[in-house]
Amino acid sequence: MSAADDLLARQRAAFLREARPDAAARRAALAALATALRTHEAALIAAVDADFGGRPAAETRLLELLPLYDQIGHARRHLGRWMRRRRAAGSPFLWPARAFWEHQPLGVVGVIGAWNYPVLLTLGPAVDAIAAGNRVVLKPSELAPRTAEALAALVAYAFPPERVAVVTGGVEVARAFSALPWDHLVFTGSTAVGRQVMAAAAANLTPVTLELGGKSPAILHDSADLSRAVGRLMTGKLFNAGQTCVAPDYALVPPARIPAFEAEAARAVRRLFPNGLTDDYTRIVTDRHLDRLRGLVEEARDRGARVVQLAPVPEGANGRIMPPTLVIDPAPDSRLMTEEIFGPILPVIPCGTLDAALEFVNARPRPLALYYFDDDRARQDRVLAGTMSGGVTFNDTIFHLAQLNLPFGGVGDSGMGGYHGPDGFAQFSKKRPVMVQAHWAATGLIRPPWGGRRRLIGA
Ligand code: NAD
Repeated sequence: MSAADDLLARQRAAFLREARPDAAARRAALAALATALRTHEAALIAAVDADFGGRPAAETRLLELLPLYDQIGHARRHLGRWMRRRRAAGSPFLWPARAFWEHQPLGVVGVIGAWNYPVLLTLGPAVDAIAAGNRVVLKPSELAPRTAEALAALVAYAFPPERVAVVTGGVEVARAFSALPWDHLVFTGSTAVGRQVMAAAAANLTPVTLELGGKSPAILHDSADLSRAVGRLMTGKLFNAGQTCVAPDYALVPPARIPAFEAEAARAVRRLFPNGLTDDYTRIVTDRHLDRLRGLVEEARDRGARVVQLAPVPEGANGRIMPPTLVIDPAPDSRLMTEEIFGPILPVIPCGTLDAALEFVNARPRPLALYYFDDDRARQDRVLAGTMSGGVTFNDTIFHLAQLNLPFGGVGDSGMGGYHGPDGFAQFSKKRPVMVQAHWAATGLIRPPWGGRRRLIGA
């Protein structure tokens, strides 16, 4: 029996044995997680830094820890309301039955985390699953091994293993994990592996939440204030050196504005990294990932695209640095334009009209995020009506993800299901309908023999 197998069995037995946690117990569990996070904050920051071979503490604090504290606080404040039993209007022919529904915990939720935000994307789903009254087993990514160990220590500090636990290991452990009969399984990673995870879960009829990736477009309308738009676009692109699932993947820009776009992008990089690509700039997670990113740029250049490196790699600098790079007008069938980039490379595609931009986006798989820069409400509505994506931000990038009352999740190739806030609570619950009938109700007459009841059934 594997560690995950054993934990699932223990947690399921405890779930069946013990009463479902009430709101106070769930709040206490979330408070314990927040305390453990605070206690282990320095260790987590150091572990993430070591796993990336360099990631600023501010980035880990702002983009991983603060969102988690926010998520925990929000769930603690609102879960009483989310848990409330809701009345539904009864159907007249079932009179006088009362109808209501409530959210019940599913049982044991498995979570396969990702390496790029290894704390947030492992503990985030757990917060919502705990708020919904579940037990949780986490499998952090093997590409962030020190963070995985730090998460195991944090979780063991806060919870007994039959409530929340961590298993560590590589691809084989992840594969076996996805084949276990969880009551719900969350996977964050690539579309290709998401397919395999869903196939494994199907054998158990385990419902899945798949948080996948894709090529999230940024569309700049001709009327957009270029300085503001490009500044925000580059900021979203360069957090974590582009290793962000909702990072803008490519930009669609009116052809006449591309020279100004380049100048603004260079200015934005100077503003973000005034001392160059030093300690404020995250490193690429492995040599393999760095080689891949360089390969994407090489191939695009060989096929005629213009490459603009926006900052030099500091001489003698340590670590896996991929500089912020624009690639102007790459071939549509190049790897740069067919694979998710997941690094600080921004293809810039000349695109003259909004209609052409929407057509470009719709010719590709549905992305995880879509960004549009323009203040015009009517055109914003056209973008909403004319495209599909996991989420949308107008006039900024990435931050829709931090809206506590909005669901986060993909659609089509970028995933299914979602979490965060009330939708996360619902995702890890069974919305269970209940009808309470009076023993004297007329529904007692709906039964054979049918002969004497013709009038009743209108025959
Ligand atoms: P990946 O899919 O290559 O690997 C993810 C994890 O899956 C690994 O840790 C591995 O152990 C495990 N795995 C591999 N084969 C498996 C199998 N057959 N069954 C079960 N598990 C298996 O992804 P990655 O390279 O680590 O992450 C990058 C991808 O993740 C990008 O596409 C990115 O967009 C996406 N992502 C999405 C979100 C989101 O919230 N939607 C967040 C971060 C990353």
